[in-house]
Amino acid sequence: IAFTTRQWSDFVHPDDREAAWESIRAVLDGRTAEHQMIYRMKTRDGEYKWILDCARVMRRDECGKPLRMTGTHSDVSKLKLTEEALKLSEERFRRIFETTGVGISQVGLDGRFLLVNDTFCHITGYSREELLNERKNFQAITFPDDLQNNVQVLDRLCQGDINRRDLEKRYIRKNGTIAWVKLSVALLRDAAGQPASVISAVQDITRFKSLQQELELRAHIDYLTGIPNRRYFMELAEHELARAQRYGNEVAIFMLDVDFFKQVNDEHGHKAGDKVLREIAHIMRSVLREVDVLGRIGGEEFAIVLPQTGRQMAAEVAERLREQVAGGKMMLDSGVMLNVTLSIGVAMMTPLRGDLDSLMGQADKGLYEAKAGGRNKVVFNG
Ligand code: GH3
Ligand code: MG
Ligand code: MG
Repeated sequence: IAFTTRQWSDFVHPDDREAAWESIRAVLDGRTAEHQMIYRMKTRDGEYKWILDCARVMRRDECGKPLRMTGTHSDVSKLKLTEEALKLSEERFRRIFETTGVGISQVGLDGRFLLVNDTFCHITGYSREELLNERKNFQAITFPDDLQNNVQVLDRLCQGDINRRDLEKRYIRKNGTIAWVKLSVALLRDAAGQPASVISAVQDITRFKSLQQELELRAHIDYLTGIPNRRYFMELAEHELARAQRYGNEVAIFMLDVDFFKQVNDEHGHKAGDKVLREIAHIMRSVLREVDVLGRIGGEEFAIVLPQTGRQMAAEVAERLREQVAGGKMMLDSGVMLNVTLSIGVAMMTPLRGDLDSLMGQADKGLYEAKAGGRNKVVFNG
């Protein structure tokens, strides 16, 4: 045995020789039953090949000393190459998984996290350990209002209705703030084809969302006074009129214009004029109810729709608006106290005249009469 093993070991790659010897020695000493190892061995043309070596002791003498050992050598070079390629691709995948700016999470069908990358942790503010904790699941960090839709999408994925789905949702970060995310979700199946888990690519769109909300707000709200702009007022007013007609309720509509406003600008400057417009909007808001729709429909022109308001109540509210503005002194940045007045035209919705355009036209005629009649007045038309 000594002779033949010596000869064998000459062919083993020097880097593998030590370990191979140790494995053989263990079998010879009876510490293990079989020697089984993959190592590099020199072939006849001097190249190394990966081989799988399996050997055991076939015969021992009465003292247990090994007499004969037999084994097989199989060429596993191809297998070894495949294994290395796999390892390389696994490493490559790991690198992409950890360095990508996209959050990745794998979630079991019970909602528990199976795998998360650094970016996902960063988006949610939780550490990997906290997310992989068995008491944590995606439900726990999802904004409650978004949970139902989220679960529905997962159900449809599991039922095989869809293969992949994009959805927008909110996570509650560890510090309690909201993270808006865009999720691309796909189902992973096990070897038997059964739904096993769900993998999501997660993009943080929080900044984009707040920008979008700001833009939407700007498209609807007048920047100077903070009340609905003309377009948004018309939309809200149409909505109120349609509702009133459906239920047969009364509605009043006001058109308001600041008297001699050009003078304010001319005498005190445009900035002072701006401040006056802001103050007027503020006074009107404080006089009106929550349900009344107020809008700035022109430079110094405002309009109001008052749902469930009859003629008498409309007269009272219009008068109160006129009084509050006329009686209020406005302090300009220069320290000057200013006094402005409003002219108001009022129209009532009737079964014959129910559309916004003609109602506003009618109220406008009242406004014109109020101006002609000396300003700081309320005039009903119809
Ligand atoms: P009347 O009593 O007939 O309504 O007189 P008036 O001076 O108010 O009427 P007019 O329509 O001639 O003037 C409106 C002025 O409002 C003209 C314009 O310079 C001013 N204006 C419009 N929008 C703004 C604004 O956003 N800020 C300021 N400071 N002024 C504005
Ligand atoms: Mg005007
Ligand atoms: Mg005016």
